[in-house]
Amino acid sequence: MAGELDDIEAQVDCPRCGRVLSVSYRDIRLLKAASCACGALVRLQDDTPLSIVQKLIDEANPPQGDNDV
Ligand SMILES: [Zn+2]
Repeated sequence: MAGELDDIEAQVDCPRCGRVLSVSYRDIRLLKAASCACGALVRLQDDTPLSIVQKLIDEANPPQGDNDV
């Protein structure tokens, strides 16, 4: 289960060049930062990306039973 969550990616904006970076949940957890191609190191705040990731997790793992058609 945990390994699957690591594959989930969240999007964060680079404050320097504005590029949208895809950051895997594993990087968010372990590094708490994302490096952009422009050379900027985007620090990931605790709440923002994790709340985004939580939302992605919810979307990737919808409650069982609802879609059982
Ligand atoms: Zn950048």
